[in-house]
Amino acid sequence: AYLDRIAAVDDSINSYIVVTAEDALTTAAEVDRLRAEGVELHPLAGVPIAVKDVVVTDGVQTTAGSKMLEGWIPPYDATLVEKIKEAKLPILGKTNMDEFAMGSSTEHSAYGRTLNPWDIERIPGGSGGGSAAALAAFEAPLAIGTDTGGSIRQPGAVTGTVGVKPTYGSISRYGLIAMASSLDQAGPVTRTVLDSALLHELIGGHDPKDSTSLPEPQTGYVAAAEDGAKQDLSGVRIGIVKELSGEGYQDGVQARFDESIELLRGMGAEIVEVSCPSFTHALAAYYLIMPAEASSNLAKFDGMRFGLRVEPQEGPVTAERVMAATRGAGFGDEVKRRIIIGTYALSSGYYDAYYGSAQKVRTLIQRDFNAAFEQADVLVSPTAPTTAFKFGEKLDDPLAMYLNDVATIPANLAGVPGMSLPAGLSDDSMPVGFQILAPIREDARMYRIGAALE
Ligand code: GLN
Repeated sequence: AYLDRIAAVDDSINSYIVVTAEDALTTAAEVDRLRAEGVELHPLAGVPIAVKDVVVTDGVQTTAGSKMLEGWIPPYDATLVEKIKEAKLPILGKTNMDEFAMGSSTEHSAYGRTLNPWDIERIPGGSGGGSAAALAAFEAPLAIGTDTGGSIRQPGAVTGTVGVKPTYGSISRYGLIAMASSLDQAGPVTRTVLDSALLHELIGGHDPKDSTSLPEPQTGYVAAAEDGAKQDLSGVRIGIVKELSGEGYQDGVQARFDESIELLRGMGAEIVEVSCPSFTHALAAYYLIMPAEASSNLAKFDGMRFGLRVEPQEGPVTAERVMAATRGAGFGDEVKRRIIIGTYALSSGYYDAYYGSAQKVRTLIQRDFNAAFEQADVLVSPTAPTTAFKFGEKLDDPLAMYLNDVATIPANLAGVPGMSLPAGLSDDSMPVGFQILAPIREDARMYRIGAALE
């Protein structure tokens, strides 16, 4: 049914870069056979899933939304893909994204933009617009995203779906094409909070192949979601982050946020206001740290090891000239912009002024979180300041595009978990996202609160 739906609507939505219909049908048939034989399977066995194209899949083209990797067929699976395959979820295909996960609109993909199923003149969010749009257009019941600065949560918010960025280290990064290694985290993209909890438990857990992977198993999320569904939040303290609402937030977004707070209050939660003064510098710190790490991570795309190779049009064919020609042709404008910013920020003489300062701000943000979590069990805010904007609106103004990440970025800088879930429609009839943030390793708390609100 999902493959039929993809065939019917994906020409007009463009959620997928590649559809792996045959593999999906083979897995589905295998699940039917095993069930008929009475074999006990994972609860999600047979439920189809879409995977963001930044996640490496054995034998299936993986491009990270870039021309640089067009035609690249990885020889191995990411750890999270291995887990999906072991549990026998049919993989429907690879979803569209901003090139190397840089962007908030999926307009920076080398494979065309993805359209928001709610209004095809608007962006589906980014960088994981493909996974979120696939969910919203019923082209998949589950999907995988990655979130370095909001790329799971902001697309979730603007498409009326659920997106979870787990605690940093909760899900293995092995086999994720790295953008900014200290910020990158894969996570579930779903239509319900319970689905996210199920998927999180499946793909999470320790992986010796990722040195930043948490040692403990990732469990208790489904139980927390089931508990939350009872809608009794007495004794729970919910902190509204003062710096993440009010001015700059669209009226309809603020109104839906305020209504959600009243719902939580009605379930017995105590509502407090907390202040995180350093959050106002989060965007500036992120847009130095993230490009710095990306400029280093993307150095491996040199025209020799992976994907594209372009020879210089004239003159000698030296390694350096092949590299320059390949990177010139293979990377899009946003990627080049960030490589230049990142290389500059890391260069000697500027390192302390830019990268060093940004790292200090990162510490201040972590301290703000620690202090806020003394006063509240979870923190909340709108996920994004606006609903989905129109195509082209922010394409020529990178700073305006970056501003859309103002509420999602602090979580990545501190490694704390964050969830976005639907909070109704704004005055423009577009979905609004409600964000829940919890302390490191306390992901269960956001599943509980999220399920209560759903
Ligand atoms: N908008 C953010 C950026 O462009 C999102 C990145 C991400 O989470 N992959 O960097």
